[in-house]
Amino acid sequence: MTQELTHYIDGAQVKGGSGRFADVLNPATGEVTGRVPLATKAELDDAVARAAEAQKAWGATNPQRRARVMMKFGQLINEHMDELAELVSREHGKTLPDGRGDVQRGLEVVEVCMGAPSMLKGEFTDDGGPGIDLYSMRQPLGVVAGITPFNFPAMIPLWKMAPALACGNAMILKPSERCPSTSLRLAELLKEAGLPDGVLQVVNGDKDVVDAILDNETVQAVGFVGSTPIAQYIYGRAANNGKRAQCFGGAKNHMIIMPDADIDKAADALVGAGFGAAGERCMAISVAVPVGEETAEALREKLVPRIEKLRVGPYTSGDEVDYGPVITAASKERIEKLIGSGVDQGAELVVDGRGFQLQGYENGFFVGPSYFDHVSPDMEIYKEEIFGPVLSQVRAGSYEEALKITMDNPYGNGTAIFTADGDTARDFAHRVNVGMVGINFPIPVPLSYHTFGGWKKSAFGDLNQYGPDAFRFYTKTKTVTARWFSGIKEGGEFNFKAMD
Ligand code: NAD
Repeated sequence: MTQELTHYIDGAQVKGGSGRFADVLNPATGEVTGRVPLATKAELDDAVARAAEAQKAWGATNPQRRARVMMKFGQLINEHMDELAELVSREHGKTLPDGRGDVQRGLEVVEVCMGAPSMLKGEFTDDGGPGIDLYSMRQPLGVVAGITPFNFPAMIPLWKMAPALACGNAMILKPSERCPSTSLRLAELLKEAGLPDGVLQVVNGDKDVVDAILDNETVQAVGFVGSTPIAQYIYGRAANNGKRAQCFGGAKNHMIIMPDADIDKAADALVGAGFGAAGERCMAISVAVPVGEETAEALREKLVPRIEKLRVGPYTSGDEVDYGPVITAASKERIEKLIGSGVDQGAELVVDGRGFQLQGYENGFFVGPSYFDHVSPDMEIYKEEIFGPVLSQVRAGSYEEALKITMDNPYGNGTAIFTADGDTARDFAHRVNVGMVGINFPIPVPLSYHTFGGWKKSAFGDLNQYGPDAFRFYTKTKTVTARWFSGIKEGGEFNFKAMD
């Protein structure tokens, strides 16, 4: 049965009024499971106006009380873990363990936000001059917006909403129209946790509603995660309209394998990081760069049987599958076309995942695992973010060449090196122009009390997601210089020179 989805406005499900809808699919079967309304500019503007009203009291609520809402929210996410993971997997297609991981990595940011009061403390200078104290405070921005991608339907909305709300803002959340249900459910849980109505508004939609967000004068900041062209577009338009913006984009993450690396461990790591979640992760490793011919041959020998053993299937098969379908039929077609271009341009397709069929799931969007060797940086499969279960091997003659290949790539989200040598690892971490680096660690997503963000074409704007940076992004600093005359010594004159 097709479910009629809604927006979530002022603490209640609200039907869309535009008459425009997008189909929500189960990628394992190709069936339409729901219809999500696509909001108009008028619907968005109304949701923002209501959010601005609700934000007044929420922003004036003391930080500890707001943190208590986060505590209760975290507890409810834990209690509803299986239900949320099922929602994630049904609309995204990832396995249930991956669905739980998606919720868990979002929950960890909620946990950090339980300590928001200590992050919101200001600074104080006692006696900065005669009778003068200076202090700074962090105040909420007002109404902010989060625009999120399909590939982490729980984690990324939670990365946006938890810090924004804990800082005292109201948020307009525009989740991916392909996977909207998790955000709608999280909004209900937040209400149950005690969040006042209107402080989180989930407005579903496509480009029309995104543009309305970017042009709405009340919206003070935009946090975006998605593909690079859209990230760059949103950053430009938001900044042009005077908004604070951080826009995280796509990736092409390289893993360097040195001759002294443990090749079994490197191959295990590559298979997990390259093919997990069907390669639909912005921190997926899509390029392996073995150093030296011997390393390349040894790695290939270890990789092929592991890749051929990967089990592809629907999330309903539980632990029995390693990864699920890709998100849409168009995505499957694009990935298979890119694999074809790799063959045409002279790369060696060692494992071919095209034409994959699963009995009983003939209409699902499954793509088998593919592995290319002898890929060069001028090929389409190297230049494009494939966002599918495809691993490319680019052979390098030396560590310097491997480093140069990684650094010349326009993306800079994550990277890794596998080596037994501390000096090489240290040199790599120091020199590489990429935001998140793993040493013998393939997907170096930082823990929630650190911070997440790429470099180069993987991020536009300033400050990272979650961790201390999130508390800076979602607040503005006000600095007060106060003078009390009783603090000036008897008979003394205020001496401005003393301030120099
Ligand atoms: P996408 O760019 O297609 O969509 C992201 C959001 O933008 C969605 O909410 C969508 O509705 C909206 N959108 C799409 N087209 C738009 C347009 N023309 N104008 C305005 N808004 C538009 O991305 P996706 O396919 O949902 O997600 C996959 C991408 O996200 C990959 O490139 C992946 O690397 C990236 N990603 C990056 C990070 C990171 O932190 N850097 C994390 C996860 C995913």
